[in-house]
Order: sequence, then structure tokens, then C-alpha cells
Amino acid sequence: MNVMDPFERERLVELDRAHAWKPFTAMAEYLAAEPLILTRAEGVWLFDAEGRRYLDGAASLWTNVHGHRVNEIDAAVRAQLERAAHTTMLGPTHPGAIELAARLASLAPGSLERVFFSDAGATAVEIALKIARQYHVLRGETARTKFLALEGAYHGDTLGAVSVGSIGPFHETFRPMTFPALRAKAPVVRGLAGEPERAAACEDALADAARLIEAHGSELAAVIVEPRVQGAAGMRLMAPGYLARLRELARAAGALLIADEVATGFGRTGRMFACEHEEIAPDLMCLGKGLSGGYLPLAATLATREVFEAFLGPAEERRVFYHGHTYTGNPLACAAALASLALFESRALLAHVRAMSKRLAERLAPLAGHPHVTDVRLEGLMGGVELAAGGSAGKRGRIACAEAARRGVWLRPLGDVVVVMPPLAIEEKEIDLLASAVAAGVEAAAG
Ligand code: PMP
Repeated sequence: MNVMDPFERERLVELDRAHAWKPFTAMAEYLAAEPLILTRAEGVWLFDAEGRRYLDGAASLWTNVHGHRVNEIDAAVRAQLERAAHTTMLGPTHPGAIELAARLASLAPGSLERVFFSDAGATAVEIALKIARQYHVLRGETARTKFLALEGAYHGDTLGAVSVGSIGPFHETFRPMTFPALRAKAPVVRGLAGEPERAAACEDALADAARLIEAHGSELAAVIVEPRVQGAAGMRLMAPGYLARLRELARAAGALLIADEVATGFGRTGRMFACEHEEIAPDLMCLGKGLSGGYLPLAATLATREVFEAFLGPAEERRVFYHGHTYTGNPLACAAALASLALFESRALLAHVRAMSKRLAERLAPLAGHPHVTDVRLEGLMGGVELAAGGSAGKRGRIACAEAARRGVWLRPLGDVVVVMPPLAIEEKEIDLLASAVAAGVEAAAG
């Protein structure tokens, strides 16, 4: 059942080889290998054209929350399809966007009560950067042109987001096309770091941020940060306490704080938003990925009342935020998001994430002593196992993930870090399978 006719599969493979150009993919290698063609997904499982199944250990690129084909979300999207697939937000609005904006405002920390929709994490970031700049201009602080970001930051692939990003191989080629950003040391800590190590990392990174903010404070538009975990840098954990103090440093300099919760938002770290771990409220918050439950492209940039009010005024002042995307606030995506958020409550998902995180931490713990593992880290269900660099540096992550795939677990590495990022609804037995596949991957990569 559900195995594709082999001739049909071969036809698709040929078409793929002729026309595909895939994201973040070495295409020569891709074209030389067999493509993995996924035809179906159910719960935490992905199914390929040959009927094999894989646990979705990357949550379909960090998006999936309640699993695939969730009745309630499917029904909400179908019901919306009966009304309209898309109507524009440039001018009119629609009930789903109204309801969802109100829901997000009620969930978000502080006075983040204004919601600007878009369709990707990167667009949510572009919007936050541009709002920050224009906010200061509208208040007469035109010298505030600079942005401070952290080393190892990743905020998406559009040029504004690349400007504040600093992952060498992703970003260096495009540096001449970007604006310069100030880069502060990241407060990176190992998963097993003890209290003194955490405190030292926190103080060291804060001193660096403070130095830069002091030197450029009056020109600073905003500080942008991935709260608690730097995702694309390899699920790097941030020293506890750093975020709260960065919040204060930004405020004292008159700069806005942008929290990029695209990866960490919607329960991924065990709280609805990672900012909650340190009880801070940013001035702007970027959301994407899990917002629609992992169903459809949807993103949002939330702004505080204070930021929004700078954009109010008589028509002749033209306090307009000139930015928009065609599919902004798509109704199908909003319907999926509302249904997904309802399930957070009815399924007590945050408590589930914390319980599953504990189990995953226990299952991965033995790997911390493995001679080829340099770190095991996890916050909620956002984790990574870092492999020691060796003869095949950079390839080890891929070797590990290939072995996991043979064992029925689909993972995608970031360099030598095996990323562990399952759908939040994952259950105990599936956690155990995931952890054992990671362990087998580590062995394979060590060999
Ligand atoms: N910000 C963060 C923190 C991310 O992890 C990502 C994606 N991995 C993005 C922004 C960009 O999101 P998108 O790929 O949807 O543009």
C-alpha cells in the first residue's frame, strides 16, 4: 500500500534531475544520488515513494508541531477553503487574520499587541529591521542606522537578514551586498556546562555587547537576537541570564530589542516563547515556522504599542510603513494557525514538550561521554549532538544522519552537529527510537 509504481517514480526522478535546484544543497552531489521523494506524512512519520517510513526528526525543517495530518487543523484548512483560499490584506482584511492577530497579542509577552503578517521567517526579520529603523526616523532620531547582532546569528536568507547574520559559508559571498552590522560575542555554553562556566560566558559576552553599545549607542536602531538558542549555528545554547541583561542594555541605549523567535517560538523550548525563560518582553518579535503548526507558510512581526504609535499621524505626514508581501496573512495559513494554537491548550502541549524533553535528555545523556562527541545540548525539544572534528570534518554530521535514516529516522545535520528537532507531539516510544538512531549515527560517524 502507498508504494509508488516504480515506472512513475523513475519518471519523477528524471524530471527532478532535469529541473530541480534545491535550497542549501550541493547540487552535483544531489543529482548523483537518489532523491528522497516523500509522498505522504502522518503523525510524526514521513513516507517515501517506496513505502519506507521515517520519523520526522527535523520536524520538516523545524516547523511541525502537532504532527502531520492533524484532524483539527485539516478540518480548519478545509473549512477555510470552502470560503476563500486567498484574499489580499492590502486594503481589506479577513476574519482569520483578525482573530489570529488578537490571539498572538494575547499570547505574546509584554505589550506586543500589533501584528504585521508575512510569509517566511526571513520576511518577518526584514520587517522588524525596517520597522526599527523607521520608528527612530519618525521620532526624529535619524542617526539611528546601526544594528547589533550576535556572532553565529542566523535570521534568514534575504539581504537584510543576511546583514545581521554571521554564519561564514552561508553569508560571506553576499557580504558586499549587505549593510554592515555590529557583531557581539555570543554567550555560548556547552550543554553540560556547570554554573561557573555559564556565568563566565554570560559576563564575557555581556561585556562585549556593552562595549559595542557604549561605542555606538546613539546610532543604534536595534539589537537582534535569537533568544536562548542559536539555531542554525548548531543549536548553540545561550548562557542563562544573558537575554535579560541584553534587554536592559538595549533599553538603556534607546535601541529596540528584536527577538527572532522564528525557530524557538511556539513551544519549541518548552515555553510558548523562549523570551519567557527570562521573563523579558522585546520591542519587536519575529515569528514563523511553528506558527501555522507546520502546515503553511505564515510569519508575523509583533510590535509594542509604543513602536506602533510612532506610525500614527495625519495623512499628510505619511507615517506609512511601506512594506508588504503579496500573500501576507493568507487565510488558509491563518486558519491552520488558529487551529494549531487551540490545540496547544486542549492537548496541554507545553507540559508534554517538557516531559518529552526530559526523556530525550536522559536518552541522549550517555552520548556526552562518547569520545567522538564534544557536546550534547537540548532546550525543550530543540537539540543538537556535536561530533568531534576529525579526518572527515564537516562530513560527520551527514554520515550520522545517513545512518539514522537507515534506521528509520530522518535527520538533517548542521555541519558536524546532528540536529534533533522532532514534532512537539512526539511520544515516548518515538523519543526512544530517535535517541537510539542518533546514537547509531554517532557510532557510524566515529568509525
Ligand atoms: N530566523 C531564525 C532564527 C531561523 O532559524 C530561520 C530559519 N531557520 C529564519 C529566521 C528564516 O526563516 P525562513 O526560512 O522561513 O525564511
